[in-house]
Amino acid sequence: MNTLKGTAKRVLPASLYTQVADAWLKLAASARFVRVLPKVDIVQLTQIAQSLNGKFERTCPICKFRGYFRAHGSPLRWDAKCPGCGSLERHRLLYLATQSEFPLKSDGRLLHFAPERAITRFVRPAVAEYLTADISGHHVDYTINIEQIDFPDSSFDSIICSHVLEHVDDRSALSEMYRVMRPKGILYLMTPVIDGWEATYEHQHARGALERELHFGQNDHLRYYGRDLRERILSAGFLLDEYTAVGEDCVTYGLWRGERIFVCRKG
Ligand SMILES: [Zn+2]
Repeated sequence: MNTLKGTAKRVLPASLYTQVADAWLKLAASARFVRVLPKVDIVQLTQIAQSLNGKFERTCPICKFRGYFRAHGSPLRWDAKCPGCGSLERHRLLYLATQSEFPLKSDGRLLHFAPERAITRFVRPAVAEYLTADISGHHVDYTINIEQIDFPDSSFDSIICSHVLEHVDDRSALSEMYRVMRPKGILYLMTPVIDGWEATYEHQHARGALERELHFGQNDHLRYYGRDLRERILSAGFLLDEYTAVGEDCVTYGLWRGERIFVCRKG
């Protein structure tokens, strides 16, 4: 109980802690409540509170922060967000991929869809020309619908498209990204994939926001990819390599085990 109290004091603002403590005392005064409260819940609640601000020390390869990462996401993922630069697991994985097997083309022109700040931080200084795009037009260089990209053929040496494909008509988007890519260009593609599934799950009746959240995990996702995502990438004309979060890297850098960067090349 002292552990729970100490943890609550550490993670809650003082005013909120006082309210929670008062409420707890009132509840604890009821012997009946104490009898029915499952002991395991107290242990789990303590573990959750302790894990919110990091469980193990990690290193961020992007900003070089070393220490405790924050919990992030819904449901929460422990040790997911770097407090130094705000990077998540997928941002750190892309950084590692570009620093090793799949380097950015330093003299090239790169288009970044739906740019995430943690990625912009290391990509912008690494390429000759860095352009951002989004359908919303907020804080980007170009307002672009990825299903119909308003650029001529062969306009870019690289494209980054992280967690966009599951929101759009993916066949059009892949085909358009192939079209605007220069020969030998690279598309760094990330999207949620369940490799245990043979086929992508697209429920035609999941039309409302709540239904989409139920079926696909987020209210603006249109599908959950299975391993046939690779066939969709190849059908657009790309050659495909993959960079996967494996082994000790997951421990050191706080990566999501098995997460992949799909590295799509125009031959
Ligand atoms: Zn960082």
